[in-house]
Amino acid sequence: PAPVAVDYLAGLNPEQREAVETLDGPVLVLAGAGTGKTRVLTTRIAHILATRRAFPSQILAVTFTNKAAREMKQRISALVGESVEGMPWLGTFHSIGVKILRRHAELVGLRPDFSILDTDDQIRLIKQLIEAEGLDAKRWPARQFASLMDGWKNRGLTPEQVSEGEGRSFGNGKGRKLYQDYQERLTVLNAADFGDLLLLTIRLFREHPEVLKGFQDRFRFMLVDEYQDTNIAQYLWLRLLAQGNKNICCVGDDDQSIYGWRGAEVDNILRFDHDFPGAKVIRLERNYRSTAHILAAASHLIAKNEGRLGKTLFTDHDDPEAERVSVANVWDSEEEARTIGDEIEDLQRHGHALNDIAILVRASFQMREFEDRFITLGLNYRVIGGPRFYERMEIRDALAYFRATIQTSDDLAFERIVNTPKRGLGDASLKQVHALARAQNIPLMQAASLLVETEELRAKPRNTLKNLLADFARWRAQIETMRHTDLAEIILDESGYTEMWRNDRSADAPGRLENLKELIRSMDEFESMAGFLEHISLVMDRDSGDGSDDAVSIMTLHSAKGLEFDTVFLPGWEEGLFPHQRALDESGKAGLEEERRLAYVGITRGKKRVRIRFTANRRVHGMWQTSIPSRFLDELPEEHVEVAEQSSSYGGYGSSGMGPYGASRFDTRDPFAGGNSYSTPGWQRAQRSRENGGGGFSEGGGSFGRKGASRGGPKTIEG
Ligand code: ATP
Ligand code: MG
Repeated sequence: PAPVAVDYLAGLNPEQREAVETLDGPVLVLAGAGTGKTRVLTTRIAHILATRRAFPSQILAVTFTNKAAREMKQRISALVGESVEGMPWLGTFHSIGVKILRRHAELVGLRPDFSILDTDDQIRLIKQLIEAEGLDAKRWPARQFASLMDGWKNRGLTPEQVSEGEGRSFGNGKGRKLYQDYQERLTVLNAADFGDLLLLTIRLFREHPEVLKGFQDRFRFMLVDEYQDTNIAQYLWLRLLAQGNKNICCVGDDDQSIYGWRGAEVDNILRFDHDFPGAKVIRLERNYRSTAHILAAASHLIAKNEGRLGKTLFTDHDDPEAERVSVANVWDSEEEARTIGDEIEDLQRHGHALNDIAILVRASFQMREFEDRFITLGLNYRVIGGPRFYERMEIRDALAYFRATIQTSDDLAFERIVNTPKRGLGDASLKQVHALARAQNIPLMQAASLLVETEELRAKPRNTLKNLLADFARWRAQIETMRHTDLAEIILDESGYTEMWRNDRSADAPGRLENLKELIRSMDEFESMAGFLEHISLVMDRDSGDGSDDAVSIMTLHSAKGLEFDTVFLPGWEEGLFPHQRALDESGKAGLEEERRLAYVGITRGKKRVRIRFTANRRVHGMWQTSIPSRFLDELPEEHVEVAEQSSSYGGYGSSGMGPYGASRFDTRDPFAGGNSYSTPGWQRAQRSRENGGGGFSEGGGSFGRKGASRGGPKTIEG
């Protein structure tokens, strides 16, 4: 290898240096956020290259996201210069899995040019198999099976290894058979799904020891970042590869394990010692990222978790001017977006780059309000780890329904949803509609309504199409008479669209339902559906901001792992939203602890400023409800927190004192509320929605003025 600079070691603390220089044998770096774990990994790669212990191609480094892989590549180039020929095998488990599989595809029954199945293809295929088994596809949804199978694959289980009992849990006992059929079909199609990228490599290694040996010899050094979030399949994969020369270095933080719901096993950390006897465990305790206030807040909070290995963290940051972690209560999510937007503009005026600012949300639906606000302000933003709110599949589908209702000639909209949810309208029928539309030069919906009056379509698709057209006609007739938000809800209900996601067992379905609710909530700000759609088309068309590279990052807490920003905004710290009700319902105490780890991840992303916000009111199911401050707020150490003054438009009472009821010092609910003495914008909105909103404001026990313990019975986001 080419010679490289050696000053990369300068500046490391002794423990970091040890982790970098201990090249032989297994090393586990177990350390809290911001202690330089990732930095240790990149420096280690530089060190391996500098000491000529290996060529780049003999190093395997695993990151959690592709973005992290790109960043690590940059960091390495910066460390060792461009002089290095070739690059290490650096990527996610999946991307490395593909690379290995392509080389040896034949050994697992594929050709090297095998395709990787996307989710849609996967669902379609599963559905065919379910039907082929004579099962009722309604009762046994394909998506449910997809996530079941995903779980098996995460645990490294082949069809033969799935236990009898588990296999029986789906499709009248046919789960295992379906899994088997599915894999056989994939082989015929010369395709692999995401889980296979790992599972097939494991099979390859097990069935072909000579291939495994080849890779074991090749990868002289292995490095793994975010080790706490590996699942069992990934663990098996690593163990097989590392059993050769055992030069494996894993870095992780049990307090940042946030993918338990996707099969990650924090126990892999404990198992490491067992599988690699004599592993050197190195702890890093100095945090280089955050101010003392931020670090104290995060440490204090995470200390409430019971299931942890425990660590100490300290920092040398002692800037007396450093901002405490700020906590502020705002009236509602609109004010939250507005005030955060103002604060960002203020930071910008003081010379801060937007690139150094992030907004981290618990649920993706929260992004909508920020995106709308930033577009209004012309503030550059980017959404990381997913599409922008209005570009999400479920939002586009819903908008297509609304557009086709209002505008019969909107062919694109009609095409998008004519068979979503699946109504059994085959390509053949749709082709006929298209042909007629072209021949007569008329819109698709008009062509469809002509066609259903003839005998040209088969009876079943004809009826389906007829019903759909009748639905649209009915919805259209209600535009003038019904409030547009109610109509929107009716359209999504009656079309079966909401139902489709409700029946969907995949992990992202609940989030999509939340997004749909948020979409309808956002319509309330407009006078009519047409007005709303016009706004959307402008939003979709216009790129936010001025198009420069400097932009605020908006992302979920889950996507923020490993990243850091000068300023971090953490909105929506309310019971039910954060901690999320679903996590509490499904996993109880373990769920709560995972949520708390997520809070820890969020706070520790901040270098200089962490600003936590929570609303006093949130609209849930079209009704205003008083929010209950997140229990995590009470778990922050008072001496490191600054409770911000109420913003001007907030009409409630001071937030800095103890709430009159309940133990939370953040509980701002006013015991006398419920009269009409309020005159704040938020309250007026609430009133308006009570008058127009059908359901009624006080349903569910009039939560607005409800007295009781702060956590007596939180209204949940999910209802
Ligand atoms: P996380 O758990 O959030 O992934 P981490 O442990 O991987 O955090 P890094 O991202 O590697 O931490 O480092 C955090 C910050 O501290 C980075 O900006 C890094 O450059 C800086 N840092 C790490 N070690 C040192 C050091 N010895 N001297 C100066 N800065 C350091
Ligand atoms: Mg890291």
